[in-house]
Amino acid sequence: MGEPTFRFDNSYARSLEGFFVPWKGDEVPAPKILRLNRDLAGELGLDADALDSAAGAAILAGAVQPDGAAPLAMAYAGHQFGGFSPQLGDGRALLIGEVFDAEGQRRDIHLKGSGRTPFSRGGDGKAVLGPVLREYLIGEAMHGLGIPTTRALAAVTTGEDIMREGPKPGAVLARVASSHLRVGTFQFFAARRETDKIRQLADYAIERHYPELAGQSDRYILLLRQVRDRQAALIAKWMQVGFVHGVMNTDNMTISGETIDYGPCAFMDAFDPKAVFSSIDQFGRYAYGNQPTIAQWNLARFAEAILDLIDADDPDDAVRQATEEINGFPAVYQEEWLGGMRAKLGLGAARDGDLELVNDLLALMADNDVDFTLFFRSLSRVSQTGTEAVDIGVPNVGAEFAPWFERYRDRLRAGDMDDGSRAAAMNAVNPVYIPRNHLVEGALQAAENGDMAPFDRLLDALSDPYREREGFSDLAGPAPDGFGPYVTFCGT
Ligand code: AMP
Ligand code: MG
Repeated sequence: MGEPTFRFDNSYARSLEGFFVPWKGDEVPAPKILRLNRDLAGELGLDADALDSAAGAAILAGAVQPDGAAPLAMAYAGHQFGGFSPQLGDGRALLIGEVFDAEGQRRDIHLKGSGRTPFSRGGDGKAVLGPVLREYLIGEAMHGLGIPTTRALAAVTTGEDIMREGPKPGAVLARVASSHLRVGTFQFFAARRETDKIRQLADYAIERHYPELAGQSDRYILLLRQVRDRQAALIAKWMQVGFVHGVMNTDNMTISGETIDYGPCAFMDAFDPKAVFSSIDQFGRYAYGNQPTIAQWNLARFAEAILDLIDADDPDDAVRQATEEINGFPAVYQEEWLGGMRAKLGLGAARDGDLELVNDLLALMADNDVDFTLFFRSLSRVSQTGTEAVDIGVPNVGAEFAPWFERYRDRLRAGDMDDGSRAAAMNAVNPVYIPRNHLVEGALQAAENGDMAPFDRLLDALSDPYREREGFSDLAGPAPDGFGPYVTFCGT
């Protein structure tokens, strides 16, 4: 078994001087690979056996720089809960380098928890085991669900005790993204009125994520449109699985359209547009139902940051063009969302009245505290021809639903799918397994006590969430009574 080697090609370090600080991770007493994502390592052209070693652990903890790495802390700014911070940046993270995956896509290998950087402000630059495993689990769950996301490459324990509410085991998450360019990266230079740098960054982003726009004279307005469309598609996917990101600050919104920065995020059990889990989101700014509006708000901040590029000679024209794109967000989002909801309901081709059918169902679910995931998974049991009172075996779905089920059956009969093919299509988009809060907490508790079995079992189920498996039924239902309201924390 050889030393871990990486075939780095570090475009960010090479092309964007001034957008980062070259930096190294801290030395740590006893780095150890707790979990390695061997499939992902393979996809990245890395030798999993070589990585699963003391040398691999030291690299993935940030303590040792492999050949060809150009580790750096990225500069970015951001609106946090609506207020602008001109300087955030990687306060506890490092980009160690970029590699090409098996499909030729450039991917960042990035560490979280590798020590203080010039962007750390008051923070200790560290991460602890529970949140690292949480990000691992939820990121991989999102990937399993088919939602664009950063991936987890490894969780490494450091052998350090980190002070939080008490001493906690230190850990580092190695994660992989198609890039870590954020709305906040643009804002960093916009706040400093460095138009040349913004242009350089925009051209870099175009080359990396939207190469079809390269060289076009109107590429910057088209970049805004593309980012808008990808974010609309992403948020629609979140909404369709009941995901609440929890901290949709502009520094946590990517240009690539991937989900990033799993902090206080959570999946809801009972459908509730007001669902909020984060301890610091007192006013529900980032509640489930607000996510599309917030995405649009964040995109407006992106538009502002690149306004000078859109039309340098005529600021009014730049504003007019950008406003048009931003105002187009709700329609793009609605189209993505309704398309996804039609698939969840097995409606087939669009028909008039679908929006009302979906919205009336969601209102009923909210009124009756119906479990979102369980309901949709069970809905494929409804047949077109049945006339019996509906019992799909989901708690709280009672007589109030009868008129809606009548309409649903009428709609199915008007559609173009027979029961069998519809059920199969529905089951391919309605997951059985999501990272339910009680399961995640249970797995992390056990992991902190040295037992990784519940984590591994949950990860296994979440990696293939649309396939119902024997022996996993305990992972498919809502939290037991008594689990109580769930609260999550940021920056831990
Ligand atoms: P996040 O909530 O993880 O998106 O982080 C928001 C900002 O706080 C980013 O600039 C992070 O780098 C920084 N940050 C979060 N936790 C820490 C920490 N423990 N030490 C230093 N910086 C941190
Ligand atoms: Mg962040």
